[in-house]
Amino acid sequence: MCFRPPKVEKPIKCEACGTVNLPKSVKCKKCGTELKKNNVCY
Ligand SMILES: [Zn+2]
Repeated sequence: MCFRPPKVEKPIKCEACGTVNLPKSVKCKKCGTELKKNNVCY
């Protein structure tokens, strides 16, 4: 079962340059690398 907190949005850190982007960001604001979401359900 997947645990999904209602309003917990953490900043997404770019794996390429380390820039912290907004939770809703799709791509890094600095280098443009596509960001991965942290709410992956295993
Ligand atoms: Zn980046």
